[in-house]
Amino acid sequence: MALLSLIVPSYNEQQNIERTAKTLVSIMDEHQIDFEIVFVSDGSKDGTYEEILKASKADKRIKGAEFSRNFGKEAAIFAGLHLAVGDACVVLDCDLQHPPQIIPEMYKLWQEGYEVVEGVKKSRGKESIFHKMFAGMFYGIMSKMMKMDMRASSDFKLLDRKVVDVLLGLSEKNTFFRALSFWAGFKSTKIEYEVQEREIGSSKWSFRSLVKYAISNVTSFSTVPLQAVTFMGVLSIIFSLVLAVQTLVKYLMGTAVEGFTTVILLILIIGGFIMVSLGVIGHYIARIYEEVKGRPQFIIRCKTDNVEGYVKK
Ligand code: UDP
Ligand code: MG
Repeated sequence: MALLSLIVPSYNEQQNIERTAKTLVSIMDEHQIDFEIVFVSDGSKDGTYEEILKASKADKRIKGAEFSRNFGKEAAIFAGLHLAVGDACVVLDCDLQHPPQIIPEMYKLWQEGYEVVEGVKKSRGKESIFHKMFAGMFYGIMSKMMKMDMRASSDFKLLDRKVVDVLLGLSEKNTFFRALSFWAGFKSTKIEYEVQEREIGSSKWSFRSLVKYAISNVTSFSTVPLQAVTFMGVLSIIFSLVLAVQTLVKYLMGTAVEGFTTVILLILIIGGFIMVSLGVIGHYIARIYEEVKGRPQFIIRCKTDNVEGYVKK
């Protein structure tokens, strides 16, 4: 029978591990799906890993690992994909905001031959207006660049072993899981779900980490910001040509003394453009630098003893 791996990135989720494990086990057993659960503790500062160990001792189908420090959700997802041995993998949040009740439906679609089953949010759940606006902007830009509708996408999805192997074979360290499954292609379908409320604990994203996440994802999928620099350059050249003509005309007519305002404005505008452009270019150079160093995406400090066959790439 086919084995389904459930991958659960967990950061400071001490109170959620046991509940999540129980919920998943009961749903899988009820639908008679062969499964394993892979918890990846992302350098948690509370007893998350101890909870994982406990769950793993009680049920051999549960395994897990702990990072040496916090590497972020992306890293945790990829570590989970590395550790998983299933014929298909489902990634879901530890706080049960991704309703596990629809996993059996995803599984069914997979058995029908779909290689990617995307979980699509029906609504964004309860979020602050600020968060909604920011997320809206980010996904708007991402959708344009990816030429796909990313607005309702999430990390909740099922991937066939073939797709998982493609993702694991990528050499890049700065991954964006949500978009990579689109990028990989394959036969895919969607399944809608209602985002649940987080019952225990609080969201692990700060505004700062969200902004960092957004910028790093935009630059990892597109070079449009770099081309925008060229565009801004062309724009200011046209602008300066117009002003040059005006200045020359004034000079020839002998009325050229005034114009300090123009000079100041020009210096400010051009200076601003140049600094923004340098910043954009600098960001890409930083990304190249990071990738060239070739450091691992995550470091595993320890893992439960039923995790086997894991080879660090
Ligand atoms: N998470 C993680 N590493 C982090 C931040 C979050 O592994 O650095 C996990 C977290 O434990 C949870 C999932 O990612 O399982 C989603 O996080 P959260 O619920 O805080 O985000 P939100 O639902 O608010 O988007
Ligand atoms: Mg959550």
